[in-house]
Amino acid sequence: MFKRKDILVDSLGRKHNYLRISLTERCSFRCTYCMPERGVQLSPKSNLMNAGELYQIAKVFVDNGVDKIRLTGGEPLVRKDFTEILKKLSTLKVKLSITTNAFTADRFIDDFKTYGLNDINASLDTLQNDKFWRITRRNQFQKVYANILLLIKEGFNLKLNVVLIKGFNDNEIVDFIIMTKDLPITVRFIEFMPFDGNEWSKEKLVSQKEILEKAIRYFGKKRLFTLENEDNFTARNYKIEGFKGEFGIISTVTNPFCDGCNRLRLTANGKIKNCLFSNKETDLLSVLRKNESLEAHILEAVYKKKAIRAGMDNFKKLNNPKLHNNNRSMITIGG
Ligand code: SAM
Ligand code: SF4
Repeated sequence: MFKRKDILVDSLGRKHNYLRISLTERCSFRCTYCMPERGVQLSPKSNLMNAGELYQIAKVFVDNGVDKIRLTGGEPLVRKDFTEILKKLSTLKVKLSITTNAFTADRFIDDFKTYGLNDINASLDTLQNDKFWRITRRNQFQKVYANILLLIKEGFNLKLNVVLIKGFNDNEIVDFIIMTKDLPITVRFIEFMPFDGNEWSKEKLVSQKEILEKAIRYFGKKRLFTLENEDNFTARNYKIEGFKGEFGIISTVTNPFCDGCNRLRLTANGKIKNCLFSNKETDLLSVLRKNESLEAHILEAVYKKKAIRAGMDNFKKLNNPKLHNNNRSMITIGG
């Protein structure tokens, strides 16, 4: 028999205190690595969690030990009831954060402050206008860049997510690190991950070794410091001597962080995913709408979590499109 407090512990003893909630499958951008060119099949609105349902499901997680919730998507800020959702979640005893493309972040600064959301991850894969269009299929570099600077000026704790793709933006690694000279931010270089329709191949990966070699060649070995890992870390963090900010490397593909994984995901249509790479989902929203208890379903989903990347425990399996293409694309998972 499981005790109530154990429902977020999996069969390997990993405790899950971090829930990432996707608010929507929609987005203002069309990043090539996230959203397949042909688009995605959107869930009918009636199948999505409304603000009240989202709160009720989140509360069950919080009652069982979740103390950190990240809002993501799609683009979370395109949801018309974003402020209502934020307000409701702010009543829970939980640290709130968001991952956003920052396109409309300037309109939400007061809401973020009012409801205690201070940690913002903003996505930006290039510092060049024309390349921004090529990756996002939208011509909004200036606006996004200005909003990122505004969020920093307003005092938010900002991390910049940069998905590295060989031949596209690996020649900007040093430029991104230079941003941390005067800005108190963490730039996080994220390995390109395989999802349905995103034309992933292992040749497009940029390794930790390559990133560090570029940093050392430009800044010198003596000026590069390795920082201590945080609990349940996903990034290995570094700093250039004298710089205000830091940079991190997230190697989910070549060097996964599954051992200490504390994350669960809730999709916009109310399904729990126990791993980003898993195509197994449990429909919590239907359970809630039937007025049944959510806990047994959450327990089962968490307990079944595999040791490494939903069972794709070696590179050969991950490289097999039959395995990773069965998963949703990132836009409908919530990154
Ligand atoms: N729209 C928001 C944004 O772009 O920040 C939130 C959702 S997005 C799916 C969350 C994060 O996932 C972003 O930082 C994005 O760069 C990252 N991401 C999306 N597809 C990815 C992929 N194939 N590999 C690695 N990271 C990916
Ligand atoms: Fe939209 Fe974010 Fe995906 Fe880009 S990464 S398409 S901004 S959800």
